Amino acid sequence: MTNVLTVHNPYTGEVVGEVPCCHVDDLNRRVETAALGAAEMRTTTLHERRRMLAASAGRLMEHRAELSALLTSESGKTIRETRAEVERAASIFELAAAELVGPTGDVLALDALPNGAGMLGYCMREPRGVIGAITPWNVPLALAAHKIAPALAAGNSVVLKPAEQTPLSSLLMCKLLVEAGIPGNALVVCTGLGEEVGAAVVRHPGIAMVSFTGSREVGVALPAAAGFKKVSLELGGNSPLVVTPSANLEAAAVAIVRGAFAVAGQLCISVQRVIAHRSVMANLVSLVSAATSRLVVGDPASEATNVGTLISSEACQRVERLVDDLRLAGAQVLTGGNRLGDCVYQPTVLAAVVRDHPAVHQEAFGPIVMFITYDQFSEAVQIANSTEYGLNAAIWTTNHDEAMEGARLLQAGTVIINESTTFRSDLMPYGGIKQSGMGREGVRFAMEEMSVYKTVCFGKPAQSVY
Ligand code: NAD
Repeated sequence: MTNVLTVHNPYTGEVVGEVPCCHVDDLNRRVETAALGAAEMRTTTLHERRRMLAASAGRLMEHRAELSALLTSESGKTIRETRAEVERAASIFELAAAELVGPTGDVLALDALPNGAGMLGYCMREPRGVIGAITPWNVPLALAAHKIAPALAAGNSVVLKPAEQTPLSSLLMCKLLVEAGIPGNALVVCTGLGEEVGAAVVRHPGIAMVSFTGSREVGVALPAAAGFKKVSLELGGNSPLVVTPSANLEAAAVAIVRGAFAVAGQLCISVQRVIAHRSVMANLVSLVSAATSRLVVGDPASEATNVGTLISSEACQRVERLVDDLRLAGAQVLTGGNRLGDCVYQPTVLAAVVRDHPAVHQEAFGPIVMFITYDQFSEAVQIANSTEYGLNAAIWTTNHDEAMEGARLLQAGTVIINESTTFRSDLMPYGGIKQSGMGREGVRFAMEEMSVYKTVCFGKPAQSVY
């Protein structure tokens, strides 16, 4: 039984550091600590929570350089991407602080029904207790912030189980948050293996809610394992982007390249399938191919790099097999299609992709974009919806009716008009339908999920005026 997890730099192969590989006993102790933290947080005033959340944002920004360098070395994300991620994490804490000045409940018109004549009621939200937060390696700081900040704002404590590949930046972030004033008992980290300590977080009776972000393969089994507790799931995707004949092709091409190759295509909302009308396909693929071939690929620590590495050699081999399968089935590789190193794969543009190939329906999670042709708008919608995923979808058009139809018919948690599928604002309700998940994040919406309504009803006064 190992007691240490070693973290490697996927680009250089060097050891970046080591963290404890916790086991179930360690988790049990941390949940006991977090239960004390939950009791502490429940009694804090909103003013105190606002202060600690705002201070957290400031503290992360002060350590932006250190956090981003560490995250680049353990994830292979480019330094420009990780700097932006630290800023994003800080702004999520700011948003959580801002949420606390708004109304926190509703007055209920009890006497609108006969049994409530003369009565007054209100409802307000109370914290759930200990929130178990399980996070993936690909956006580890911002997605941990999307769980920690709303959980604390709503008066809970948190046990964070970060991904095995990227625990160092999460540990550093949580240390900084505690230094900024978050009670140490209210934010505890448990590093370890997903199948052991992650699974134990899901089952633990002392944890009131599990907020999981990760793969569909792991996520689908969690509600049954969790027993009597709330579970929210942010899972994978296979985002379609429809380009209609009226679209601004130059702008669409820029959005496709940005959305397909950010984080080397390892985002749940990466542009995976471009479904373009036959009349614009040739122009669009040539614009996208030309821009893709100009991307600087490789060393994530270099300021010049646009596309960093995949997370592991296995991930790179999986992408290589996927491209080979599609190529064998008739797809044309217009740009890329080669492995450049142990964990580096060239950004790849695949045209004439067979729409029903099984690989088209999987989550690619790599630097690949697939082009599929359509003739009728209804066909584009049918192709876009033909996966088990439903996270983000986009449509590029200048036709108002098509935009409205796209918004209505595309099966996705978010439909985006004339932007990349990777667009996300941290204040919007975000999450999937179908097998992309259950529940919504986005600070206010996560606070709702991480709290429960308590309703209070005042009886009729003895000398009623009613
Ligand atoms: P993963 O599912 O392998 O791991 C995610 C987390 O779950 C890790 O912390 C891991 O240790 C833990 N885990 C593994 N097995 C577990 C188990 N049996 N019980 C409980 N926890 C367990 O995912 P990953 O490779 O880290 O991340 C990539 C995946 O995450 C992709 O599918 C991506 O689309 C998805 N993702 C989704 C979103 C979203 O917002 N919807 C955001 C980012 C990533």
